[in-house]
Amino acid sequence: MIVMKFGGTSVGGTAPIRNAISIIQEKLDQQPIVVVSAMSKVTDLLYRIASCAANCEEAKVTELVEELRNRHIEVAEELMVDSVANMLPAISSVNELCDELERFAKAVSAIGELSPRSQAIIVSHGELLSSTIIGYAMKAQGIDTEWVDARKMIVTDDNNLLKGEPITATIQKTVANTIAPLLEAHKTVITQGFIASTANGCPSILGRGGSDYTASLIGMAMDASAIEIWTDVDGVLTADPRKVANARRLDKISFEEAAEMAHFGAKVLHPMTIEPAVRKNIPIYVLNSLKPSCQGTVILQDTQIADGVKSVSYKEHITVINIFSMKMINTSGFLGRVFKVFSDNGISVDLISTSEANISVTIDDTQETDQLVAHLSEFAEVVMDSGKAQISIVGKNLPATPHLTEKVLGALGGTSTYMISQGATDINLSIVVDRKDMDTTIAAIHHALFQ
Ligand code: ASP
Ligand code: MG
Repeated sequence: MIVMKFGGTSVGGTAPIRNAISIIQEKLDQQPIVVVSAMSKVTDLLYRIASCAANCEEAKVTELVEELRNRHIEVAEELMVDSVANMLPAISSVNELCDELERFAKAVSAIGELSPRSQAIIVSHGELLSSTIIGYAMKAQGIDTEWVDARKMIVTDDNNLLKGEPITATIQKTVANTIAPLLEAHKTVITQGFIASTANGCPSILGRGGSDYTASLIGMAMDASAIEIWTDVDGVLTADPRKVANARRLDKISFEEAAEMAHFGAKVLHPMTIEPAVRKNIPIYVLNSLKPSCQGTVILQDTQIADGVKSVSYKEHITVINIFSMKMINTSGFLGRVFKVFSDNGISVDLISTSEANISVTIDDTQETDQLVAHLSEFAEVVMDSGKAQISIVGKNLPATPHLTEKVLGALGGTSTYMISQGATDINLSIVVDRKDMDTTIAAIHHALFQ
């Protein structure tokens, strides 16, 4: 059996959904479990509805829910013109979901208070809507389809309902108990990405882009033979095609390389997707639903992958924090003290480099740092250097790659660099430059390494 996950653009309207269904139809003999995202832009719209509700903008809530309703009804009508028997229940489910959403969001706007729980309920509607419509459209195409509620299978902790941590031991059981009997009855299962609930049944979500993660959790629980991530690009590329015109598709990369790329800026996969697949050694295919004949990229175990550079990825908004203390000289425990402050403030660090009296680290610009700086300043001098970008060269066994550093440093030319760091795992070489130099530097490094 395989898991097939379709992202927002792959189910973003009538034509892409038809296309997705024909891809599913081709694979029925492999017993697909279908996982879908919300239609493209719908989750953004739902986040807007949530924030309007929080601001007591009731009229705006009504208007946006109408927009949501119309878009889904139109697609349902177009998809099932030839099958009114499926179109009618699909439309009435869309109306029910939108009515329920409107009632709920209006109640939130009446009190003007948006809890994480309420927010999770609101933004879950995108996947509920898309999976309902696609489920009926699959039936209309003669596929014996069963709609399954992911919230009954994907169980998370309750520390952060908007980025729930999946409880894998439970998920192994709930997924297998729910899906195995349906597969035995020769049903094709469709379910939602992204949405989940806690052990107590409180709604939660896996964080933005979390549908990939759902797909790999289900793949893990079912011992799938493959996890297919259907998207709108040809696979994993050597660089972001918006930055590098001649970025190339990679045939295969390792789980470690994929995880590193996802963490260091490549947008193809949700960073947590790899982990459940690694546990059971399940290959992940990244495929283009608009070009199903393209071979895509397969992510495999490290032993099946050649050494060498695979990609140049980037993170656009980075701050370098320089932490300086004379007390650091010839003492122990200083690093521990510094990183305890980061961990107490919940701030995650990417790159680290140290010298005798100085520690430099990079963090994402989006993190709130006032408290952190105040605490660090109690025992060290702290200088924040924002407006930076981080470029990461990812590949297997980088130190063994001939002339790598020479080529990379050569490509930097006269660009100012603030940190250069080769990860201890030999899989990542990262460079911090000014944000304004990022695009030209990515292109120059890519040229030096791949042309
Ligand atoms: N619909 C959710 C989002 O846009 C989850 C996903 O598509 O992966 O973030
Ligand atoms: Mg996505």
